[in-house]
Amino acid sequence: HDDLTQVFNRRHFFSVLQREKSLCDRGQSAFSLCMIDLDHFKRINDTHGHMMGDVVLKAIAQCIQNNIRSVDYLARYGGEEFALLLAYPTIEDSLKCAERLRQLCGALVFDGLPESVHVTISLGVASYDPQESVDELVRRADAALYRAKAGGRNRVVVAPWPGRAQPSSCF
Ligand code: GH3
Ligand code: MG
Ligand code: MG
Repeated sequence: HDDLTQVFNRRHFFSVLQREKSLCDRGQSAFSLCMIDLDHFKRINDTHGHMMGDVVLKAIAQCIQNNIRSVDYLARYGGEEFALLLAYPTIEDSLKCAERLRQLCGALVFDGLPESVHVTISLGVASYDPQESVDELVRRADAALYRAKAGGRNRVVVAPWPGRAQPSSCF
C-alpha cells in the first residue's frame, strides 16, 4: 500500500493488472484502465501548503476508493496521479463510473480549507484490447489523460480502440 493514501501502490497495481490481462486473454473478463490526475494541484500546495495538499490527496483517494466496487483496484501511480482498474464488461460502464468519480471528487470539501476550494480531476480511460501488452494499455490510457488535460481538464476522455471497431463487450 501507499503510505500517504493507503490505496495500493504502483508495484502491486502492475501485478493486479497483469493478472486481469491474463483472465481477459482467456475470455473470462473484460476491464478498462483509467489514469487519473489532479488538476492544477501545484496551486493547492503553493496556496495552502504541502500539508493541506496531503489532506486533499488523501480525501480524493478515499472518495474514489469509497465509490468503486470491491472488484475494482485503485492505486497511487505517482505524486498526484492515480491508476484505476475497472472490471466492467463494457467501456460504456467504465465511462459512466469515471464520469461519476469526476463529479464526486469535484464536489468534495476538505477539512481545513474554505468550502469554496474544489479540486477537479482529469481522467483517461482505455478498455483493454486482448492483443496488446500492459505497457501499451497504459500508454493509451495516458494519451487519453493527456487529451483530457489539453481539452481543458475536469473531464473524462476515452482512448480510441487500437486499429479496429471497438466491441461493446469483451465477452
Ligand atoms: P495539471 O493540471 O497539469 O496536472 O497541473 P498540476 O499542478 O496538477 O501538475 P504539476 O505536475 O505541475 O504539479 C503536480 C504537483 O503535485 C507538484 C507536486 O509538488 C505535487 N505533489 C506530488 N506528490 C505530492 C504529495 O505527496 N503531496 C503533496 N502535497 N503534493 C504532491
Ligand atoms: Mg496534476
Ligand atoms: Mg501529474
